[in-house]
Amino acid sequence: CGIFGMTGVTDAANFVALGLHALQHRGQEAGGIVCHHPEFGFNSARRFGYVRDNFTSQDVMQTLPGPLAIGHVRYSTAGKKAAVIRDVQPFFGEFSRGGAAIAHNGNITNADALRRELIERGSIFQSSSDSECIIHLMARSLQKDIPSRMEDALRRVEGAFSVIAMTRTKLIGVRDPLGVRPLVLGRVGDAYCLSSETCALDIIGAELVREVAPGEMVIITEDGRVESRMPFRPQPSKFCIFEHVYFSRPDSIIGGRSVYETRRQIGVELAREAPVDADLVCPVPDSGTPAAIGFSQESGIPYAMGIIRNQYMGRTFIEPTEQIRNMGVRLKLNVNRALIKGKRVILVDDSVVRGTTSRKIKEMILDAGAAEVHFRIASPPTAWPCFYGVDTPEREKLLAATMSEDEMRDHLQVDSLKFISLDGLYRAAGEAAGRDNSCPQYCDACFSGEYPVAPSDQIEKGFQL
Ligand code: 5GP
Ligand code: SF4
Ligand code: MG
Repeated sequence: CGIFGMTGVTDAANFVALGLHALQHRGQEAGGIVCHHPEFGFNSARRFGYVRDNFTSQDVMQTLPGPLAIGHVRYSTAGKKAAVIRDVQPFFGEFSRGGAAIAHNGNITNADALRRELIERGSIFQSSSDSECIIHLMARSLQKDIPSRMEDALRRVEGAFSVIAMTRTKLIGVRDPLGVRPLVLGRVGDAYCLSSETCALDIIGAELVREVAPGEMVIITEDGRVESRMPFRPQPSKFCIFEHVYFSRPDSIIGGRSVYETRRQIGVELAREAPVDADLVCPVPDSGTPAAIGFSQESGIPYAMGIIRNQYMGRTFIEPTEQIRNMGVRLKLNVNRALIKGKRVILVDDSVVRGTTSRKIKEMILDAGAAEVHFRIASPPTAWPCFYGVDTPEREKLLAATMSEDEMRDHLQVDSLKFISLDGLYRAAGEAAGRDNSCPQYCDACFSGEYPVAPSDQIEKGFQL
């Protein structure tokens, strides 16, 4: 999901809408904005679909007045596919000392246990979302002010969370102690914003002040002061390495590093680790593009657009049902026949999850008369589900959970298939010495099976580490 918050301008919701539009790649199912105005109080709008279709009309935007607003674009993670508007964030709660709204990116790994406990004690849930636990935990806190209630609440929460919250007067941002999901602080003039990624600062002309640190809570007051608190026990950070590979936009900066450059470097590493003689390097657009450029630069094999993407489709993976996802590949991608015919083609994609995309693409490329098809994948085999906010299917549906690299190659019926190594990926992400196996610099659980936070709800349901 993507989250954005703004304070210190007369029409904060307009800025939030722009920010969410720039974060649309992080979630396309639905979006919502909550705002506050000194006279009109809290207002909200939550809608299915794209930001540009919902939060551009005057009809909607004039119902969202005030100098303070937060918003969310949603992409539902495993288990909650039924689209209901009450699951759309931000969530709002009214406490004794005024209301608060929250927008959450990530996944709470003990949400089932928390929900059971909260319901037993009388909480009335409105949604099926794990994020709603935070509001109820805040309501039960004995602290008076809202930031302290939030600290109390989040100390009970396990898993991955970047949260943007607002009270009547304050904008608040928090990252979980491992800093799994991103969150940055930006500034335009005297006004501040919080965003999942820096690409959303650019769209409103904001400058990056800094990243919110893992385990940090920043509180931005009405008069433009930024207060910092550290509510959690310090731990080694475990930022999601898949943000570098796929999830973030290539024009974003993470940890001082360009996402595009990391992806291009992945291609360079791949060309060194798994060279192959061929005529063309083609990306599977758009997620494979920077890595394909790097592969071509390093190997000297020409880069070409062998697959053309229809710009009017969203990300295939994010479409919630299996059936739509299967159709999705053809709706979204088509082979550039004239270019491919008779050629030995290297296809570069970011990841193989179920293998649906790779299989369809291989069929289309062979149909078009390619002489050979070689897949190069910009991430290691995805052998484990993510429980921290990226939608991966259960383990049995992951191709790499049951097959070796050679078995996957045979299954996909391609001439060769190679994945980047974990070390190669870490090097591309700026870790010159590769992965520190005694204390990995990132979360890479979907590749390594080493989960930095035990997924306790899943373990209770029988998931085996
Ligand atoms: P597959 O067809 O193998 O199941 O999915 C692989 C494709 O889905 C890749 O081309 C990639 O761009 C996209 N993808 C891979 N992993 C994820 C993910 O975790 N979330 C989303 N939204 N898309 C993904
Ligand atoms: Fe990111 Fe994978 Fe860790 Fe999930 S399991 S947070 S996708 S690295
Ligand atoms: Mg893709």
